[in-house]
Amino acid sequence: MEVRVFDTTLRDGEQSPGAAMRAADRLRIARGLDRAGVDVIEAGFSAASPAVAESVAEIAAHVTRASVAALARTVEGDIHAAWESIRRARAPRIHTFIATSPIHMEHKLRMTPRQVLAAVESSVRTARSLCADVEFSAEDATRSDHDFLVEIFQTALDAGATTLNVPDTVGYTQPHEYAALIALLRARVQGSERAIFSVHCHDDLGLAVANTLAAVRAGARQIECTVNGIGERAGNCALEETLAAMRVRQDVYGVDVHFDMAAIPALSRMVARATHMPVQKHKAVVGANAFAHESGIHQDGVLKHRSTYEVLPAEMLGQRAARLHLGRQSGRHAIRVRLERLGFAFEKPELDRFYQSFLEMANTKREITDADLRTMANRIPAGIGQPA
Ligand code: MN
Repeated sequence: MEVRVFDTTLRDGEQSPGAAMRAADRLRIARGLDRAGVDVIEAGFSAASPAVAESVAEIAAHVTRASVAALARTVEGDIHAAWESIRRARAPRIHTFIATSPIHMEHKLRMTPRQVLAAVESSVRTARSLCADVEFSAEDATRSDHDFLVEIFQTALDAGATTLNVPDTVGYTQPHEYAALIALLRARVQGSERAIFSVHCHDDLGLAVANTLAAVRAGARQIECTVNGIGERAGNCALEETLAAMRVRQDVYGVDVHFDMAAIPALSRMVARATHMPVQKHKAVVGANAFAHESGIHQDGVLKHRSTYEVLPAEMLGQRAARLHLGRQSGRHAIRVRLERLGFAFEKPELDRFYQSFLEMANTKREITDADLRTMANRIPAGIGQPA
């Protein structure tokens, strides 16, 4: 069973406050995602501005493998703008959406549920008349009435939508609840096996990845995510974390994903630079400390066997040695190994003496570098304690 990866770094991700990217960076990221094997690239909301539409069209012309999607409200003008910008893509997709929760319909759209249903029907039909691949999203699905959602998705499916997306727009749902909603929709929308159910989660309660994974267990076959988890407010579901979980716990999810994990560190850096949004050090998978160890017990374990303290094989991400951060929590094993790498093969008495100076320095310095180690090691006279 295959799960498709739909990346929205260039659309929802760019909606992070202050994250607007230059067109050249957007194209570079799209190409990187394409090379890594992403299934769908959501390139932008074409009706937003002529500059966005132009950038979407440029991406559509250069992406060679993935589908390229453009977002559109359920209004004619948006759908035509989306189509114009992606029509030259190898595999274009129109993604149309409208809100379905009472709070959004009443206060934002000022539309009745019947009017919303009519908009779904006509917009999906229009999109299908232009493009064979149409995704429909019920915005704020997780705060929508379930019976109404069934009716909405039934209408979208019957009008020709090929992917049905169930967004947790405001990051409100909980894993068990979201899984139950996906199961309910799959059971109650007639002919739902013809469509792919998709999930789109936000991280307002820190559950975007957990919710996405729960939905995959319930039969969702497309996940929408962003590199580094960037996006509106607290961000979207992080691509790298979700894929890592599905790989490491293949036994739990049993799904295939065609994405080159080794491409992730470079993509993460590219997105961080282009958006001016650095990745926090302790961020899972792509943080600077994700494979770093400080405490003596952990360093000793990792040196003996990496899987003692690392569940994600770093080689999967194209990384090499474990990063042992040397500081005052470090133990002799890690220090000895590092010294050996630097060319100092100390016997126990020399190592004991070295360790004392190491601890003195570690009390005043956060990280002991290789240069510090060399300086200290050169001060240890050879052969201390050796029998004369
Ligand atoms: Mn979103």
